[in-house]
Amino acid sequence: MHTPPLPDRSVETYAAITDPEWPERLRTLAKPLSEVGILHVSSTATGGGVAELLRSIVPVCRDLGVRSDWLVMDATDEFFEATKAIHNGLQGSGDPLTEAMKSTYRAVTERNAAEIDGRYDLVVLHDPQPLGMLDRLEDRLPAAAFVWRCHVDLTDPLPEYLAFVSDYVRRFDHAIVSRSAYEANVEAPSTSVVHPSIDPLAEKNRAVDEGTATAERDRMAPISFDDPIVAQVSRFDPWKDQFGTLEAFRLAREQVSGLQLVLAGGMAGDDPEGVEIYERVARTAADDPDVHVLTDLPDMRVNVLQREADVVVQKSLREGFGLVVSEALWKRTPVVGSTVGGIPLQIEHGRNGYLVGPEDVPGVATSLVALLENEDQRAAFGANGRKRVRERFVLPRQLADLLEALVTVLRRDR
Ligand code: UDP
Repeated sequence: MHTPPLPDRSVETYAAITDPEWPERLRTLAKPLSEVGILHVSSTATGGGVAELLRSIVPVCRDLGVRSDWLVMDATDEFFEATKAIHNGLQGSGDPLTEAMKSTYRAVTERNAAEIDGRYDLVVLHDPQPLGMLDRLEDRLPAAAFVWRCHVDLTDPLPEYLAFVSDYVRRFDHAIVSRSAYEANVEAPSTSVVHPSIDPLAEKNRAVDEGTATAERDRMAPISFDDPIVAQVSRFDPWKDQFGTLEAFRLAREQVSGLQLVLAGGMAGDDPEGVEIYERVARTAADDPDVHVLTDLPDMRVNVLQREADVVVQKSLREGFGLVVSEALWKRTPVVGSTVGGIPLQIEHGRNGYLVGPEDVPGVATSLVALLENEDQRAAFGANGRKRVRERFVLPRQLADLLEALVTVLRRDR
């Protein structure tokens, strides 16, 4: 296990950007946790929503006086092959889980659990990857409460994978999901819903001065920021459907001259499919000078891209929450997204973007054209999007929900 680097955060700084009452409310909510030690465990420190969330949650909790640590698992490629299969199975597709995969999973989770030697009252295991640590952790921390924080889209899991995960989840004290529709598939003794959120202070989301924006635009040459741009920022992953986005872009381009598509993606450390999907996307786009496939952008460049795009797309086939949607809306960029997972929580159809069925490529193209041809509508949608995120999807609100859930678990446990 290893500890990722964390930025400095003070809860007071959120008052000016969100709502002046948040710091006081959060201090009150955190009081019952002042004597408590909380450990978060996840499987990667970079790339993807979970790392993005923990990078902000953990330092702000510390600032609130809650002793909080974040440990990241050390694991092998075979382990990540197995856990990506579990992730895909929970989201509804994939091949059967083999005995070899199960035994790799158990061996690696057990080895990681054996390395935990701190004193913790509450352990939050994020996603399916660290779930198997429970066996060993129950022995090492007999007085602790265990929470499973599930970030994946549990709308329609394959039964075999759900059964595998449920054998662990039943033994947790509590589970937290990102959307109420997922609760039906979680067999923990109690569940709650916490919608994720963006951190407006993070490099990826903070305000950008013109000099920095110009420098970042230059670094993204040959993209022309004087011509219309549609962008999707996602890990290269089958569920993010970059191929569908490409098809929709090609239809939209017939009606919008000079249109460009930027597909920016990273390779999360725990995602073995990334390179293969990236290579397929890059090959498909290779002969098209208006399609730009960018990898591993620094956060400030993602920030500028989400800001400068005329429309952001998130054409996912499944999506636990989809932080990228709120990231774009926060920057006043309208979003065209699929009606899957957490996306409809964020996009208000016809107010800050458009919602389209996950298989409806022509529908995505029509929505893109409507927005690209109407600058006033883009500006109005952008203002609505900023407001939506400020009210519902910024870090202090998520922290308030999380702290409430954790306090309830501890009270009940004791
Ligand atoms: N991200 C990034 N660079 C990329 C692709 C993604 O920084 O090239 C970030 C993105 O900005 C967001 C997170 O990774 O903060 C993805 O979170 P989301 O909830 O949208 O999807 P997940 O990857 O967790 O399925």
